[in-house]
Amino acid sequence: MSTDEPDPVVQPSEYVSDLPIGVELKPKVDHFTWDVFPFAKDDEGRVRIRRLDQPVLPEPPRNGEDGPRDCVICAKPDEKYLWTDEHWRVAYQDPEERRGSLATVFLEPRVHTDLGDLPAERALELGPMIVRVERALASLEGVGRVHVNRWGDGVAHLHLWFTARPAGMLQLRGTFLPLWNSLLPRVTTQYFDGVNMKLAAALEKDGGRAHVR
Ligand SMILES: [Zn+2]
Repeated sequence: MSTDEPDPVVQPSEYVSDLPIGVELKPKVDHFTWDVFPFAKDDEGRVRIRRLDQPVLPEPPRNGEDGPRDCVICAKPDEKYLWTDEHWRVAYQDPEERRGSLATVFLEPRVHTDLGDLPAERALELGPMIVRVERALASLEGVGRVHVNRWGDGVAHLHLWFTARPAGMLQLRGTFLPLWNSLLPRVTTQYFDGVNMKLAAALEKDGGRAHVR
């Protein structure tokens, strides 16, 4: 083994050091009342898998389904974003809604469109933009992996989720990371602002404009 290789990370990050490890979590939201949560409790308080409901067809419209006029993403000014350029915007979590994640951001085209209708020019830029946002998140201290998701069940305007999994927290791997983020206590305002500043600066290095400094 070469002696030039960097030492592996063996110390938990500031984020992980602040996690309530070994403590019972008491989240503000009762997940058992959440209509998409797959588990329910029976009369004896035992956890079981929820029974499937009847389908809802046609499905109710998502926000922005009828165009940009009522779209919450189109209505948001650039100043409320982490970073923007001519065609793309990167949003941070609403500070009031923020949960326990190390970092969660959203990549959105400026044009009001969903993934299947993305114009060809934007579709060509999407791959490089995904890589760029992933690299910005991966440059933060203590990131084990960056998860990239597109669900789109709430808003019709394309938005990709990027969530950083803290290094060492193997329980937070894979598809349960978003759920854990709603269970973990909120990060402090100081930590949240510091992460957003670093991300905005990392994105701005390759062009566009940071809105958080
Ligand atoms: Zn929109």
